[in-house]
Amino acid sequence: MIITLNPLTKKIEVEQICSQLKHLEIEVNELPHRPDISLLLYGVITEDKLEIIRRLPRVVRTEKIQMPYHRASKQLHPEASIIQVGNVKVGGGHFAMIGGPCSIESPMQLQETANYVHAAGANMIRGGAFKPRTSPYSFQGMGQSGLELLSEVGEDLGMPVVSEVMSIDQIDLFDNVDMFQVGARNMQNFDLLKELGKTSKPILLKRGLSATIQEWLMSAEYIMSEGNEHVILCERGIRTFETMTRNTQDISAIAAIKKLSHLPIVIDPSHAAGKRDMIESLALAAVAAGADGLIIETHPHPEEAVSDGEQSLYPDQFTALTEKVWKLHQFMKTL
Ligand code: PEP
Ligand code: MN
Repeated sequence: MIITLNPLTKKIEVEQICSQLKHLEIEVNELPHRPDISLLLYGVITEDKLEIIRRLPRVVRTEKIQMPYHRASKQLHPEASIIQVGNVKVGGGHFAMIGGPCSIESPMQLQETANYVHAAGANMIRGGAFKPRTSPYSFQGMGQSGLELLSEVGEDLGMPVVSEVMSIDQIDLFDNVDMFQVGARNMQNFDLLKELGKTSKPILLKRGLSATIQEWLMSAEYIMSEGNEHVILCERGIRTFETMTRNTQDISAIAAIKKLSHLPIVIDPSHAAGKRDMIESLALAAVAAGADGLIIETHPHPEEAVSDGEQSLYPDQFTALTEKVWKLHQFMKTL
């Protein structure tokens, strides 16, 4: 439940109300993101207690929490969140253009990719060091040494870096990585989400392969309920009956998230399309629909990539797309 106090309520009075509520065995949190003075109440609120709460001095309104995800919902945080990732802001009009290989393969491959991603005007680098592969016999990633390469390259170019964390025991290895990525297959790994919620690093939370928007927001809630509010949602295509694309890019997720949540949403057209010749169209559609960013796979020699080569853009394709993305993003602001 949320209670709203008279806007003239003094700090000392708020404290008094909080201690009265605690006497009723109700946990109280202030809601700093609301424009009014509001308190979030947790606990068993019986009819009797509700009557007492309504009569407390300065209480002007009581309101039910409408959604099962509280901290991710607009009700508790009406303004769009702006998430700081290294020196880049994401959300609230700030756009993330993230590019890089599916997997980090070698120092040369990563350096070459990062150089043209940077020159193209992207503002963040991606690269997987721990890879969730469908087959246990496929390349599983370079692991810790891959993360070290990624953070060195990012630091040299002055660009934040993002990489996927697959398990709790890997968290400590990410000290020099600017943002954790939680992959689609781990969206409901609740133990991992809770542990990431205890850190203060931003998290790019991918939508599960068959997850509903509500399940996805509940996963964000798992992270946020532990204290880490720096969550960016990432739609990467969902499973449908269609086989022409690897997954189906759910453009409506952008509209739905904008309606329900304050968290930024980034689109991954690479894993949605699965084919490089479809990526430009999906990427631009996402920008026009109001996405707060894109994450796109690219490789200097896609035909030699150890993972996701078919969906990796050639360097010149990535460069041309990045230019169009920034132009369209600017144009959308003028509408
Ligand atoms: C990836 O980003 O390379 C990846 C494995 O993504 P997803 O979890 O969306 O499949
Ligand atoms: Mn990939």
